[in-house]
Amino acid sequence: METALWHPFSDMAVVRDSEFVLERGEDVWVYDTDGNRYLDAAASLWYVNVGHGRTEIADAAAEQMRKLAGYSIFADFTNEPARALAARLAELAPLPDAKVFFTGGGGEAVDSAVKIARRYHAAQGEPSRVHVISRENSYHGTNGIGTGVAGIEANRTGFGEILPSSSRVPFDSVDALRAEILRVGPENVAAFLFEPVIGAGGLLPPPEGYVRGVIDVCHEYGVLAIADAVICGFGRLGTWFAVERWDAEPDLITFAKGVTSGYLPLGGVVAHGRVAEPFWSRPGNTLRHGSTYAGHPAACAAGLVNIDLLERERLIERGQALEGTLAGALNPLASHELVADVRAGLGLLGAVELTPDVLECLPSAVTDLHLLVRQHGVVTRTLGKAVAVSPPLTIEPEQIHQIGAALAAGLDELA
Ligand code: PLP
Repeated sequence: METALWHPFSDMAVVRDSEFVLERGEDVWVYDTDGNRYLDAAASLWYVNVGHGRTEIADAAAEQMRKLAGYSIFADFTNEPARALAARLAELAPLPDAKVFFTGGGGEAVDSAVKIARRYHAAQGEPSRVHVISRENSYHGTNGIGTGVAGIEANRTGFGEILPSSSRVPFDSVDALRAEILRVGPENVAAFLFEPVIGAGGLLPPPEGYVRGVIDVCHEYGVLAIADAVICGFGRLGTWFAVERWDAEPDLITFAKGVTSGYLPLGGVVAHGRVAEPFWSRPGNTLRHGSTYAGHPAACAAGLVNIDLLERERLIERGQALEGTLAGALNPLASHELVADVRAGLGLLGAVELTPDVLECLPSAVTDLHLLVRQHGVVTRTLGKAVAVSPPLTIEPEQIHQIGAALAAGLDELA
């Protein structure tokens, strides 16, 4: 039956009568409406970090809804779960005297972080600092600013010029960032926005020294460094906010996805105490920005239990402990005739990129591979030239090998 549901980022001319309807999930498994079981190697959209079917999270959210379904946190209003989650995140964050600004998701977090950066500079007497630099291939959501700075060109074009004071630099060069800051003029640059590991743009790990390097360059020129940890946080790279992997201290960190493992929508920005200071200490310097569902009590209650689970089951450490297993399962695919590159070995993230030849002969090759792998009982995600995996952190080593085997079988069938 044709659907009335307009899917994001989807070719509705194809999807309109070929939807894949999922009904339930349990740990790393999801089940479609025909009762078929799949290993969810994508953790939905990189976010079901604690696995599916956690009744503790559902119970906490339901209990909170019965108690106080929702209340805004504008002005002096707040609610207990929002306060408690902010305190917990501030404590876990690798930033001194951190403050937490909640949003409804990751894209909104990115827009919030950039607006905070611009207002920070204005409050410091540098209102000309509005320019935002991002990396080619980066993805920062689809809100206004996230669209305007998008490094995946196809996500930026066709919508008009949304953020004129922005530019992009090659994703792998610290020197290119310095050159761009100098070209624009440091006095005009508000922020550099970067994903520690580029996700949607192809799963590209940073070169050696990159994360610390770009933050140092930002600080040399008074530019705020915003780490977009929407995918990389909450154990995906084996740490809470991704940047700890490089012992790095940006000025702002965006988060979403894994903060609730997606049980309810929630995102936010963690700000270094130094960045929050002009807003916290100067009456009248109000950040005129925020949205209705910021600090939603049920979402925050879900986040609190999710963090408990990540801690209690040591899932953050597991994200790193299993990275070698994932690399071991995917690396052998590099010798397949259809494979150009395998990227794995940084947390529970992996990608298998197809060769230019196969992509040219068969433009649908990535989608075809993803569908073949699904026939082998494993759900992956298509990413431009690659198929990506980012399983729940609860995954067992033999299940990781099952992902590798399904990909191998799919590649053989595609050949
Ligand atoms: N930033 C990054 C790095 C992301 O990967 C995403 C989503 O995948 C976003 C921002 C946007 O998050 P959301 O889809 O919750 O708006």
